[in-house]
Amino acid sequence: MAPVRLTFWLWMTAVLLALGLAVPAAAKDSAPARFHPLCHAASDADREVSAMLDRASWNCTAGGWKASKPSAWLRFEAEAWAGQPVPRFFVTRTSRHERITLYALDAGGTLRSRSFAESDGRAFDGGPVFRLPLPPVTSATEAVLVRIDRPHSIPLLTEAVLVHDLGDAGRSVKEMMLLALVLGMLVLPLLFDVTFFLVLRERFVLFHAGMVVAMMGYVMFAGGAISVAVGLPVAVLAVMAPLCWAAGCGAALLFLSTFLERGALSRAMRRITFWTGCWTIAVPGFFALQLHRTQAFDDTAYFVTITPAAVVVSVAIIHAILRGSRSAKFVGAAWFPLILASLERLVRGLGVYAGPSSLDLMMFFATGIEVVVISLAIADRFLAIRNERDAALTEARMLEQISTRDSLTGLMNRRAIEARFDELLAQGFDTFALVDLDRFKAINDLHGHQVGDAALIACAKAIRGSGDRDAIAVRLGGEEFVVLLRGEDTLERAEALRQAIPIRIAQDVPGLELPVTASMGVIVLARAERSTMQFAEFYARADALMYEAKASGRNRLAYERLTVFSEPPAPRRRRESRAA
Ligand code: GH3
Ligand code: MG
Ligand code: MG
Repeated sequence: MAPVRLTFWLWMTAVLLALGLAVPAAAKDSAPARFHPLCHAASDADREVSAMLDRASWNCTAGGWKASKPSAWLRFEAEAWAGQPVPRFFVTRTSRHERITLYALDAGGTLRSRSFAESDGRAFDGGPVFRLPLPPVTSATEAVLVRIDRPHSIPLLTEAVLVHDLGDAGRSVKEMMLLALVLGMLVLPLLFDVTFFLVLRERFVLFHAGMVVAMMGYVMFAGGAISVAVGLPVAVLAVMAPLCWAAGCGAALLFLSTFLERGALSRAMRRITFWTGCWTIAVPGFFALQLHRTQAFDDTAYFVTITPAAVVVSVAIIHAILRGSRSAKFVGAAWFPLILASLERLVRGLGVYAGPSSLDLMMFFATGIEVVVISLAIADRFLAIRNERDAALTEARMLEQISTRDSLTGLMNRRAIEARFDELLAQGFDTFALVDLDRFKAINDLHGHQVGDAALIACAKAIRGSGDRDAIAVRLGGEEFVVLLRGEDTLERAEALRQAIPIRIAQDVPGLELPVTASMGVIVLARAERSTMQFAEFYARADALMYEAKASGRNRLAYERLTVFSEPPAPRRRRESRAA
């Protein structure tokens, strides 16, 4: 199956690239230039720093991080930078908070502090991070304590470091180049979407474009690439990444609910998918705003309310694959790496463990793969839809053919001629010749219906003429035909056709006991363009002439010339009957 193989190779390449970048990044993490907190704590708002001087107030294990309390505390020990330049900056993940207070604690208990509001934080081009200047750290400094009021996320705590030089913080040049690569991968599908939408006005193309834009936003904000271009406030940077992610997941669900082939999802499943999409944009989207009123629970609420999206996506894809959907296989292949990476991010976001932020690169890669494979899926679906439309068009043409043609002789049928009658009159078809085979019932009785049918086909060939654009033959039904003629000498030409009938039948259906002749009732109309006469009136008049022809011995033509004026007096008529 092509999509699975394609995703496999893209994913393998991505994993190898990410490992190539993450291993040196991890090595850099353990290098002494970045100092991580050794202990952490959470407290109520009224806890004073003096209460944190006691070591018993701290949790010095790797787990148990909490962003749900009014204040979070971090403790960096001076032993970490012994023999190296002292740290000058506090750097951490862009995330919402109210205030950060930094303390340098000297031996003997002296405290120097600096306190910063959220708006004082400066983002810089090292990734999704911001920096604050430390109070002077000296050789006498024992520890640096950090108090974060109203922290909104666990990475704000787990990814905090102290550095001497800003170059030691955030992402490496290689990592930033990788982000640029992923962003480049995302631009192409967006162009595809625009092109697709111009040709195929399907809603799913719009949902996909929305998803790509959200994913680009996510990669730019969560990856920190945006800070290379503009210096946005920490609050905006912090909100945009989870907001883009929620919007992207929501758009993905809306896309899924509209993209798969008809019948790939049951009605209920399609509805669940659609409404989970709306929910994912609205509810986790709301918690992504990280309002201070929701600080105690918004981090957890965001991850909990976004989880149904992952569940519904997985169930819907499996459901559609089981129902034989080809598009669902593409989507499954496209989203598998993303679902894996999201699970990892989810577990890390909930504070189960504290991985380095370079793990996010897996997510960006998965996003790139997802968007590229889905674009291929759209291209595939695009072809399928085009084929469906072509088939429908062919069928429609066939149906029209069937509804306007007589199946035995291939001539136009009565429905078709009635529909086009006015148009044909206007085109100058001013002669209406009604044809009826003579004593045809006897042919059927003597030779059977099959032979009768062969005679009807031969008759049709005789009156169709050979490619005459000025004569149109129609089978009205039974052994009754009409020929419409225009141009010079229409009466003579009609008579010639009538005489050709027995000759052609004798040729095509040999061995008939009786010759099959035909009678004709012909109306020749002068000034047809002014006529408002309907088909039914022509037919009735021609039928009356036909009755005369039959009554006067069959195998002959009876005609009438009508002169129609635009203003009535009633038509003047001249009647004649010609024997063969
Ligand atoms: P006339 O018109 O000269 O008065 O005599 P007729 O025997 O042709 O008259 P009538 O209209 O009574 O009979 C027409 C016959 O045409 C009746 C039917 O058996 C035959 N017929 C009508 N449609 C078909 C057809 O599709 N196939 C065949 N084989 N026969 C048909
Ligand atoms: Mg008849
Ligand atoms: Mg007849």
